[in-house]
Order: sequence, then C-alpha cells, then structure tokens
Amino acid sequence: MITRVIRFLGTAQAIFLGIVTGVLLGWLMGPISACLRPLGDIFISLLKLIIVPLIFSSIVVGVHRTGSMARLGKIGGRTLLYYLITTGLAMLLGLILVNLIRPGVGVHLSHEAAPPASHAGSFQGFLGRLIPQNIFQAFAEMNILPIIVFAVMFGIALLTANRSAKPLVDLMRSTEEVFLVFTRGVMAYAPIGVIGLIAPLVGTFGFDIFLSFDKFILVVLGGLLIHACVVLPLVMKLFSNRSVTAYARSLQKPFLTAFATASSSATLPISMEAARENGISDETASFVLPLGATINMDGTALYEAVVAVFIAQAVDMPLTLGQQGIVFITAMLASIGAAGIPSAGLLTLLLVLEAVGLPAVGLGILFAIDRPLDMCRTTVNVWGDQVGCAVVEGKNNHGK
Ligand code: ASP
Repeated sequence: MITRVIRFLGTAQAIFLGIVTGVLLGWLMGPISACLRPLGDIFISLLKLIIVPLIFSSIVVGVHRTGSMARLGKIGGRTLLYYLITTGLAMLLGLILVNLIRPGVGVHLSHEAAPPASHAGSFQGFLGRLIPQNIFQAFAEMNILPIIVFAVMFGIALLTANRSAKPLVDLMRSTEEVFLVFTRGVMAYAPIGVIGLIAPLVGTFGFDIFLSFDKFILVVLGGLLIHACVVLPLVMKLFSNRSVTAYARSLQKPFLTAFATASSSATLPISMEAARENGISDETASFVLPLGATINMDGTALYEAVVAVFIAQAVDMPLTLGQQGIVFITAMLASIGAAGIPSAGLLTLLLVLEAVGLPAVGLGILFAIDRPLDMCRTTVNVWGDQVGCAVVEGKNNHGK
C-alpha cells in the first residue's frame, strides 16, 4: 500500500503527507498519540543503522577519489573555508537580530528544571576525544567526530599506499554503494516513520509555552529563514552556476527528512542520494556531505549565539562586544562539536555559556520548546551542506 502511495505521489510528497497526517493525528488524539511513537523509533533506528558504515566508507572513498594529496588539500581547504564562512555569517546574523530585537529583556528564567543531565564536557576534553584510541569502540558508541578523523587518516593512507591496497578501496566503494541502496529501501518506510515522529510531538505539546517565548522564537526562526533564503542562496550564486531554486526544489526529500527527524546524521543517507540525483560528483558528495552533517551546522551555530545573548538579556548581564566575540568563537566550536542528533545543540550550548560566565538558567524551558526549533535548524543545517556541495564544485559544473 505504502509503496503504491509513494509510486503515485513521489517520495517527497508521500513524506509531506506523512507529516500532515502526523500533525492531524497528534491534534485529534492528544497525549494518546504517544502510542504511535514506536513507528518513529523504527524509522530513526533504521537511519542510525546506516549512518556509521555510510559515513566511514564515503569519507574514505571521498578522500581516495581526490587522487592526490594536492587535490585533497585543495578540496579539503575549499570545504573547510566554506563551512567556516557560512557558519560565521549565520552567527553574525543571529547576533545582529538578538541585539536589535532584545527578546530576553523582561523574561524571567529560572534555575529549576535543568535539562536532562548530559554534560558537554570541556574543550580540552573535546579535542582529546577527537583521536580515537579504539576505533571499534568509536564505531560501537557512534562517536561520529573520531570516526571522521579516522576515516580521513585511513583514506590518506589508502591514497598513498601502493597497489596492494586496491582490494580495500574496492571494499569501501562497494560498502558505500550498498548502503545507498539500503537507504532507498528505508525511504519506502519514511512516510509511516514521520507519522510516528510528528504525531506524539503535536499530541503532547501545550502551545501556551510557546506564547511566552514569542519574541525569542521570532528571532530564531527569522534568523534561520534569512540565512536559508538570502545568505546561502547569495553564497551559492557567487560560487556556482546552478539555479538556486531548481536546486532547492530538488532537495525536498532531505529537507522533509531533516525536518521530521531533527537529525542531520539521520538525514545523511537521503542527502547523499539527493546529491547524486542532482549530478554532484561522487568526489564532492562523499567528502562534503558526511563531513558537513557533523561539523557544518549553520542553524545550530545561529541558535547557540542567539540563546547565549538571550540568557544574558534575561538575567540582566549585558554582554560587551568582546564577550559577544567570545560567544561567536565558542558557538562556532560548539556547533562543530554538536552531534547531528536532536537537541545536541542545546547540550553544547553549555560550553558557550561557560566561556562568557553566564549562568545556565532557563535550559529546562528551552528544552521544553526545543523540538520544533530543532526541526527548523536541522533543515537549515542540511541545506547548508547541500549548498556546500554546489560551492565546492564551483562554476564548472552545469547540473541542476
Ligand atoms: N539537531 C541538529 C542536527 O542534527 C543539531 C542541533 O542543533 O541540535 O543538525
């Protein structure tokens, strides 16, 4: 039945229908809609199942496909520069809006109801954990950043090794290919999966809580919208020949998946599939997307910068320009360190608050309203990665 709906409507439309059905069911069923949650859990588990082998194999293959250290340096440099500039622009935009609109003034934030305890740790600890001591442990615990570091090193080793490494390269290529095929299968379940994600969300949420944070939500959503619809398209226009609208339209599947799952990592398989359909070269897609899903998070960085200043306004501890500079740098690092999973940005936010000496107040309430905002910032994160593909390919490519 579901495959017939997909064949009739197309996957993106079927997922959209799933989201609308989820909203309606959540609204009609109220808290009982929580019984639909297992449908969503199955979808997330299926996506998670694909992430580690796909990220690992595609980064290894991506590094190897560059063909030489010089070319790897060129593509790697271009990619990192793109990540840094666009993340920086997102945070700048967030800081301007939050300083202009001042949503925190007059808001009372309390210490109670802290977020579920899971501390983000210090920066030293974060850097120390980048190099995995045991790669199998990193795989088993799904520690994506160390896996990426190892994949890049492994890819470089294959690139510089002699011909005897060829079977391993072939194995990595087939692994990437097979997991992309796997993704197509999982997507057949997506319309049902999103019902299970959205319905309990709508059914168990009270909307009043959003009203008392209306200005804050306006700043966050306004910033995300401007970044997605103005800043990123401008960057893309400057560095690519592709039509921004046609490109964005072809990305409905990853956008809807990012929105429904609030996870860049879970969306990665669908993002890679879409990039291929868009004629992005394998060399670029298998390098820019898996890396971007973890370290390029424009939406998360914008959000963290806004929240830090918002809390400062609420507790009446205005931040100087210098302190906002520290927010800028730490929010950039915190967004790099955030895993591509729901609410990760809110956990690494603690590092930003710590850096400027702000109390961690209001995090309980921010957690309570986080999911809808997370769905939007994750969609922007995924769009940022896709624009990255177009930019890294440059003006020579004439795909969509
Ligand atoms: N959920 C976001 C992502 O996966 C991260 C965050 O901002 O919490 O991209």
